[in-house]
Amino acid sequence: MSSLPASEGPEARPSGSDLCTACGLCCTGLLFDIAPLEEQELPRAEGLRLPLACNQYHDAFRLPCPCHHDRKCTVYEARFSVCKSYECGLLRRCKEGEVPLGEALARVERVLRLADAVRRRVPPEDPPRPLWDEAREHIRERDAADTSPAWRAERESLVAALEELRVACRQGLDP
Ligand code: SF4
Ligand code: SF4
Repeated sequence: MSSLPASEGPEARPSGSDLCTACGLCCTGLLFDIAPLEEQELPRAEGLRLPLACNQYHDAFRLPCPCHHDRKCTVYEARFSVCKSYECGLLRRCKEGEVPLGEALARVERVLRLADAVRRRVPPEDPPRPLWDEAREHIRERDAADTSPAWRAERESLVAALEELRVACRQGLDP
């Protein structure tokens, strides 16, 4: 996973709203694990109780964003500059007419479907972390506790599903 670029609300950009409304994946932690903040945005992020990830080089908050529900930004009016400005490669090409909206929506739906399938196999953590991290932890814990052929088969299948999802994200959305 990349660590710097960030996310945007599904409906954050009117000209891209048809696609982003159906997507919202850049808020979920599937494409990036943190989103950068402007220094002056820190108090607002703290007020929203976002999980901050600040260090001497940058201010940021962790994804998945807790303000993201049902593919929507619940703090749309108070979203951050990176949320307004970020465009994945798929959205850019869709807006330029290079990728038809129907094809772009199909790519998004495929990623969502693959992510849902993995999600059903990986117990959610509290607080949530990116699906990749939770899946890695799930596999590590099961490896330590279960040496059965059934788990080995499930493990192989889960790793394959994660790889399919990773390729779909990279090639389909081009974050
Ligand atoms: S504030 Fe809104 S647009 Fe920004 S990451 Fe969170 S849910 Fe997405
Ligand atoms: S991943 Fe791309 S298409 Fe999806 S909401 Fe973000 S910018 Fe829009």
